[in-house]
Amino acid sequence: MTTTSIEWVRGDDGMRGNSWNPIVNCSVKSPGCTNCYAMPIAARLARIGATRAKYEGTTRRVNGNDVWTGHLNLDEKVLLAPLRWRKPRRVFVNSMGDLFHEGVATSWLDRTFEVMRDCPRHTFMVLTKRPDVARGYLLGKPVVRNVWLGVSTENQQTAEERIPVLFATRPRCGGSAPSRCSRRSISGSICSSIGS
Ligand code: SF4
Repeated sequence: MTTTSIEWVRGDDGMRGNSWNPIVNCSVKSPGCTNCYAMPIAARLARIGATRAKYEGTTRRVNGNDVWTGHLNLDEKVLLAPLRWRKPRRVFVNSMGDLFHEGVATSWLDRTFEVMRDCPRHTFMVLTKRPDVARGYLLGKPVVRNVWLGVSTENQQTAEERIPVLFATRPRCGGSAPSRCSRRSISGSICSSIGS
């Protein structure tokens, strides 16, 4: 179990939330990815015995930096972990990648959402830079009330591109979002409940 000190993943009672990475890896999407914290972490985890199999091949060195290769991995064991967490908590989904990366198989998304649906006691927070992919996947699917979908935006342009797609996916903002819900947000993250 991986707890995280990220403030917006804390529960209302102050309890630390968890990060949960059933699927890892990504690729650069937009200029904000220059500061991606996950790439060097993935490279480090690929050198550690316990996490090598999961992260091996996910990054390569380019001009002295660790860069995603786009090679995605599904961790079957981690996928089922939330089912064993008895105490309700907030969960940051795929902190080591983007759940809605174009390369993620639909069957992997189905299984990830199945686990989230089967854990109504937890609140799952999914942040993406690819709301168009999320919208395509979620349209017509049953509501999952305990999943919050958010977009991360690094400038006005990406905010104007991504936030309307998020709102079109599910029109309501819900809960205590990682940041404020505002169409004027110029950077950061906003969140919308997938539940209606
Ligand atoms: S979308 Fe997120 S995880 Fe993927 S490269 Fe960009 S910042 Fe990193």
